[in-house]
Amino acid sequence: MSNPSSSSISDLGITATNPSILCSLLPHEHHGPTIPAESPIDASQIAQVHLASPENTSQVLDKLPTAFKQWRQVPAPVRGQLIRRFSEQLRHHQQALAALITLEVGKIHSEALGEVQEMIDICEFALGLSRQLHGLTIATERPNHRLMEQWHPLGPVAIITAFNFPVAVWAWNATLALICGNPIIWKPSHKAPLCAVACHNLLEQCIQNTPQAPPALSSVIIGRNDVGKQLASHPTCPLVSATGSVAMGRDVGTTVASRFGRSLLELGGNNAMIVTEHANLDLALRAILFSAVGTAGQRCTTLRRLILHPSIATSLCNKLTKVYTTLNIGDPRDASTLVGPLIDAPAVASHHAAIQQALAEGGELLTPHSCDSVYPEGGHYVAPTILKMPPRSPIMQQETFSPILYITTYSDLGDAISQQNDVPQGLASSIFTNQLQEAEYFLSPAGSDCGIANVNIGTSGAEIGGAFGGEKETGGGRESGSDAWKNYMRRTTNTINFGADMPLAQGVTFDT
Ligand code: NAD
Repeated sequence: MSNPSSSSISDLGITATNPSILCSLLPHEHHGPTIPAESPIDASQIAQVHLASPENTSQVLDKLPTAFKQWRQVPAPVRGQLIRRFSEQLRHHQQALAALITLEVGKIHSEALGEVQEMIDICEFALGLSRQLHGLTIATERPNHRLMEQWHPLGPVAIITAFNFPVAVWAWNATLALICGNPIIWKPSHKAPLCAVACHNLLEQCIQNTPQAPPALSSVIIGRNDVGKQLASHPTCPLVSATGSVAMGRDVGTTVASRFGRSLLELGGNNAMIVTEHANLDLALRAILFSAVGTAGQRCTTLRRLILHPSIATSLCNKLTKVYTTLNIGDPRDASTLVGPLIDAPAVASHHAAIQQALAEGGELLTPHSCDSVYPEGGHYVAPTILKMPPRSPIMQQETFSPILYITTYSDLGDAISQQNDVPQGLASSIFTNQLQEAEYFLSPAGSDCGIANVNIGTSGAEIGGAFGGEKETGGGRESGSDAWKNYMRRTTNTINFGADMPLAQGVTFDT
């Protein structure tokens, strides 16, 4: 394998021409409209993207049942070898893929590299798992019987993803779905089509080098929400894994449920951190900064609410506001930049609208409205903002997808946990304390109601080994590590009689 640093964006199957990267994403003749893809860094046009028509999507969906029949017969460890090849491709192209993520969604280089690393990590996890897809043997009440369960491939899996993790969330789903024996169809965000095409091209090469893999094993369909709706309503996909806003999840979830399909929903968060008087404040400060400002506040796990013990509130706020003034905001391609742009102009407008609403609700701005950094012209930049708020302000009930941090204080730990839980979403939470009782209370059934509850670590930056997801309006799905693979399989319960009699369960007799 050649030197990874030799790979560039043009090696990802996206043709570079001067001055734009032009890309014709669909081989079909009759595609839908063409839209420009713009970089959030400076609003420069980086591609012309052909959107799929409903006919294009149907053509791809029609190929999936045949691909499924072939792939489900391939032994799981052999399916794992496809993922091993894919992880090698990702390693080789890590720098180039990261550069494309930066260009297309504005992530700083380190975070873009980290996102590709997350793909490599889930590949390794899936490869190991391909030899461990296991059922149970269960004690039976009948003599000479065996009771067991098996996990079988489920069927084609539709994957709908959001713009902010344009490759990793697909990889969580794709790698597990594939080793579990299912073909995949991906509808990425239309705000990040190039990353999707690049990943698809790399996987496609691996599929071609895997003799047992059918050609239609993986596909990507570029389109807006209507394509997602088409996938959700189509009977071909027994599982629709959808990541994005609560509004999207509500729509997809009900559509899929109405045809008795399964949905795996990873939706918005409204994440909080409690800092008690027993916390290491230096550690908390570092965690707050990355959680609240990393990815320019555009992570589902971004820290949005900070709930402080009154005795440490003033000193922590002072330290925080001081650090915020030193943040380097600007072009994410510069090594010194910590905060890149938001995804587009509507995101900037939502950011400013939320600040205005917070002020109207009695909030107090602790940071300047804007900062002195020089931004590339046309880019969608905002200054990370801290507001001190009255507890339970209405604006704090909603997720604004930008770097706004609301700060409140609490009276006792019960009040802090109740403030934290008292929002519609339930994704990530954390407590900073060095007192065992406080930490254990937070992790107990009476503590955090979120899918992710951390101690002395921030709310964002999860590893792939654990199951990822949240409760309430976050959708209830769990992806990535632990036993999330079971989402992509169907369970059968088998009872086998190896005796000469026919005893019935529960002692029932039914003899003639
Ligand atoms: P979005 O909901 O606008 O779009 C996400 C995806 O869903 C896109 O591909 C979009 O085309 C599709 N879509 C939208 N409406 C649809 C519908 N009615 N039917 C079918 N498909 C539809 O979200 P976004 O702005 O791209 O991403 C930001 C949101 O995603 C935030 O709320 C963030 O918290 C959330 N998110 C959650 C997680 C998680 O793991 N919980 C991870 C990343 C992002």
